Amino acid sequence: MLPIVGLTVGFISTLIGLTTGAMYDGHSMLRVTPQTKRQEDHLRDLSKHQGVSFIGGDPLVGDHSHVIASPQVLDFVLESLKKFETEHLLTNPDVGRSIRSQKVMTRMNGDISWDAYYDLDSINQYLTVQSVGHPDLVTLTTIGKSFEGRDLFLLKINKGSTTKPIIWIDSNIHAREWISSAVGLYLIDQLLNSPDIEIQAYLDDFNFHILPMANPDGFVFSHLTDRFWRKTRSNTSATAINGCRGVDPNRNFDAYWLENDGGSKDPCDLYFAGDAVFTELECIAIAQYLDSIRANLIAYISLHSWGQNVLIPTGRDSTQIPEYNEYIRIANLAAAAHQIPHGMVYTTGSVFDVWHPAPGTSMDWAYLNFPSAKIHLTYEFRDKGQYTVLLPADQILPQCEEFMAGIKVIFDELK
Ligand SMILES: [Zn+2]
Repeated sequence: MLPIVGLTVGFISTLIGLTTGAMYDGHSMLRVTPQTKRQEDHLRDLSKHQGVSFIGGDPLVGDHSHVIASPQVLDFVLESLKKFETEHLLTNPDVGRSIRSQKVMTRMNGDISWDAYYDLDSINQYLTVQSVGHPDLVTLTTIGKSFEGRDLFLLKINKGSTTKPIIWIDSNIHAREWISSAVGLYLIDQLLNSPDIEIQAYLDDFNFHILPMANPDGFVFSHLTDRFWRKTRSNTSATAINGCRGVDPNRNFDAYWLENDGGSKDPCDLYFAGDAVFTELECIAIAQYLDSIRANLIAYISLHSWGQNVLIPTGRDSTQIPEYNEYIRIANLAAAAHQIPHGMVYTTGSVFDVWHPAPGTSMDWAYLNFPSAKIHLTYEFRDKGQYTVLLPADQILPQCEEFMAGIKVIFDELK
């Protein structure tokens, strides 16, 4: 039977790659860095051009943005960047090829590995197998359903008492950030199966509530249709008019919503914050569940990519939270530990300071609503902009290893 399984896996892997890659065949990815307002304005104009899409970060003076250009417009884009003397770097000459080269597997026996990305069914099956294999430790439950009716599976690890402090971790609320759920699953695997007594000891101190797939609809869409899909797949006020669907769920929480020009009011935009706060079922489910465990919540941690950051509240503006020094101290300790296994450098700071205005995030909502928790963090994993969300599969395990090195420091600080 084994060779047949292998063939099946290979076939499915290729099929998925073809489906999502074709859309970007021959497209180039460029990193652009405006240094003047004139260059920034030019990039904003460029973003409206057919065949040009910004996949992360609006153009901002001093910040990197990433642009995908179709083969038809590449020469025009390059000429135009040269004309405005805008700093740019061709980071990927064929995005479609990179998508196809990402190793995507289906494994329905729950036996996944960290040298490939997996589809949603395989991830859910892994969670089921872990819960069946650890009936004394694990409860697999659902905290609600997505817009398209998929379960939002939460894996709870409770050793003994259920009243211990709870560490909450969610991943893949942004659909295309596949590395984030790979790390979420790795953490589950380590907590349940690692022989490391240091890791096992954490189960005596904490209960872990982990939501590996916070946006399953978007995740499936990023596998089958558009690899760069970030949002949910809900209907919005614009869907019937122009077909634009989905909301950036990490701009939809009721925390500084749309303040300071963060997030977008445009339903077709990557960062659309929703027609109102909490329009997204996925966000409501997370908020309601967190509220139900508020008495024991000690840490809120959300996993994302890319950038290599350990980020603290807030995404609103440069005002420092009262706990800033303590949060940064812990983030810096973690960053130093993250660097040890593979030398990767993680920077720390508030979301606003490191990135840009980003109100409406789950972290800021948790920070505002659960002040008794000791820490609220957002992770941005590898890389710093070369592959962006197309992190090659051979970096999954190193990423997981360096995450474990740092998260242990945070767990120690929470004791
Ligand atoms: Zn994200």
